Amino acid sequence: MIRFLLHSTLAAALALSQTAPASAQDLGAAPLEVLYGFTLIDGRGGPPIEDAAMAIRGNEILTVSSRRELLSGPDAPRDAVAINLGGGFVIPGLIDSHVHLATAPNRERAEAELYRMLYAGITGVRDMAGDGRALAGLARDSRLGVIDAPDVYFSALMAGPSFLADPRPQSSAAGETAGEVPWMQAITRETDLVTAVAQAKGTYATGIKVYANLEREIVRDITTEAHRQGMRVWAHSMVFPTRPLEVVNSGVDVVSHVCRLAWEGMAEAPTEYHHDQVPPYGNLDAESAIFTELFDAMQVHGTILDATLAMYARAAEDPDNPLSDRCDVDFARALVGQAHRQGIPIIAGTDFSTPRSDPYPALHRELEELVNFGGLSPMAAIESATRVAAEAIGVSDKHGVLEHGRPVTFVLLDRNPLEDIGNVRSVKAVWKNGERFERSAYRAPATEEEVRARQTVVRGPASAQQALDQWIAMWRRYDLDAVGDVFLQDPALTLFASGGG
Ligand SMILES: [Zn+2]
Repeated sequence: MIRFLLHSTLAAALALSQTAPASAQDLGAAPLEVLYGFTLIDGRGGPPIEDAAMAIRGNEILTVSSRRELLSGPDAPRDAVAINLGGGFVIPGLIDSHVHLATAPNRERAEAELYRMLYAGITGVRDMAGDGRALAGLARDSRLGVIDAPDVYFSALMAGPSFLADPRPQSSAAGETAGEVPWMQAITRETDLVTAVAQAKGTYATGIKVYANLEREIVRDITTEAHRQGMRVWAHSMVFPTRPLEVVNSGVDVVSHVCRLAWEGMAEAPTEYHHDQVPPYGNLDAESAIFTELFDAMQVHGTILDATLAMYARAAEDPDNPLSDRCDVDFARALVGQAHRQGIPIIAGTDFSTPRSDPYPALHRELEELVNFGGLSPMAAIESATRVAAEAIGVSDKHGVLEHGRPVTFVLLDRNPLEDIGNVRSVKAVWKNGERFERSAYRAPATEEEVRARQTVVRGPASAQQALDQWIAMWRRYDLDAVGDVFLQDPALTLFASGGG
C-alpha cells in the first residue's frame, strides 16, 4: 500500500513532466533526478537499504527505495536525470541538539561555526539560550540561504529573577535589562504566563528554555501554557528547587545534562542555582531505584534526554577546565546506559565547541561518546542526531528521516557509520534543502589569532555602552548594514560578558 502510494506520487510527477515539459521549463521547475550508488540509512532504525536510489525534484524527495525497485515496473522514471553518487552511505542531515551561538553575540564566530557544522553534515541545531535578536538573524539568514549554515532553532529563556544576575543572560540582553526582554524573562507567581509565552514565541523561538530558580508549580504552568501556544519546553534536568522527577512530571519535552539528574538522589539540595554546586556522586548507583523510577516517569511522559555526555568527558580530561570537577563521568556514562536500556529517547547535544582548527565540530565526538561509553548502538546514535532530535525540536514532520515528501537534506559518508560511528567524519557531501555542498570545497575558518588581529579589543561596560551609542546613532541614519556590524561583532560585548556580572 505504501509502496503503491510512493510510486503513484512518482508517476504523477512524471506525468506532469511528460505532458507539459515546455510549460514546466518555463516555470523554472527543477528537473526530476534519480540519485543512486549508495547504501541508505533512513533514520528510522531499520536495516539499511543496499544499492538504494532516491528520486528527487528540487527540494522534495519523491521516493526512496532500492534501485531495482525504483527503476523497474511501469512507474519507472524514464526521463529522469540519473546521478551516480559513487558509493558510500546516506544518512539524514545531523542535528546538534545543544549549542550556544549567541550568548554574547559575535556574528563572525557564529557564522564560522555554522559553516563548519554544515560541511560536517549538520543541517540543524537547537540553540539553548542566547541573545534572541542575534539568533533570529542567524535563523533567518540560514533559512534564506544567505549564509551556509544548518537550520537554527532556538529557545527563549525563562528563570526565576535571582538567576538573571548571571553574566550570561546579562550579555545576552546587552543594551536592555536581562529578565525584562522577551528572550530572557524573569518569571514569578505574579507573571501573566499567557503574555510571557506569547512574547517568547514572538522572538521566533521554537522552545522555552526552563533554566533555574523556579518552583514546581511555575515549571508546570509554564509548560502547560507553552504547549497550549504550540511551543516546545526544554528544561535543565535540575531547576532548583524543582528536582528532576518534578521537572519530568511537569510535562517538559526535553531535560538537559545527565549529570544533573544526580540531584534526584540527594537528600538535601540547594534551592537556587549556582555554578559551584556539585552533588556528592560517591554513593550514587545508576542502577538504583531512584534512577530507574525517574526513567520510568520519563517513559510515561515521553521525555527526551539531552545527555551532553562528551562535554563532561572532555572537561574531565583537562584539570584546568572549570567544569572538570562538576561531574563524575563514569556515573554519567552509566546513567546514560541505564536510560537507554529503559528505552528513554536520547538526543545528541554538545554544549561545547571544538577548537577552530579542528575540521569537525563537537557533535561527532558526542556520537562517539554515546556509542563507546553510553551503550548506544551506532544506529541508535544516528537516530539520536536525526529522528529523535527532530522530535525534540518538534519538526519530525519534515526532518529526521528520509522518505517521500521530505526536503532533500541528507549526508553522504564515504565509510559505514554502522561499523564504526567514527565514520560520521568521512563526509563526502551534504545536501541541505536541495543544495549540494562538497566536503572537498570546505575551507578552514580563520584561526583565533587571525580573528583577534583584525579586531580592536576594548574592554569593559563603558565600551559596550559606546558600541550601543554608535549603534543608535547609525540606526538613526538608516545605515542598517553598519548597525549589524557594530552591534553583533563588537568584541567589547564579548569581553563585557566574561568580565561582567
Ligand atoms: Zn547549554
